[in-house]
Amino acid sequence: MKHLTEEDLIAYACGDMSREGLDATKAHLDTCSLCADGVIEARSILEGMERLPIVPPPAFAWSRLQARVQATSQPGGAPDEPRWLALALAHVGAVLAAATLIVASGAWLSSSELWAALAQIPAARALGPTGATALCFFGIGTLASLALTPALWWESRSTSRGR
Ligand SMILES: [Zn+2]
Repeated sequence: MKHLTEEDLIAYACGDMSREGLDATKAHLDTCSLCADGVIEARSILEGMERLPIVPPPAFAWSRLQARVQATSQPGGAPDEPRWLALALAHVGAVLAAATLIVASGAWLSSSELWAALAQIPAARALGPTGATALCFFGIGTLASLALTPALWWESRSTSRGR
């Protein structure tokens, strides 16, 4: 005995079947509890879908979608908005993480013996432990950026050429 396919079950539950198909399906359902259960399940799923509320999209989503469709239909391709947003969020996250690190390191430094030695230097004393730590991080960050610049430049060059 061949069982009904998922498509058959859904078509039957929707009442979307040809006359012959309907007769054969009914005959099978009279003898097969497995497929009859399948029809009940399909009906409950369809009813659940009908009960789902239709939520209109917010206005800004529509205008953004339109802008996206327009940009995609142009030869230039889709805008890099999500990538740009991810980059901005990553940047904000990195800045917050750095600020937290600086404050925590400054707190550690102020209670360490290293600060007792550094405080002998007037410039370090003027900056305070947090300021000195921040300056230190900015120095490291600047050096790291300079070191990474050729790699970033190369990466952006190959990305724009690939598109
Ligand atoms: Zn069956």
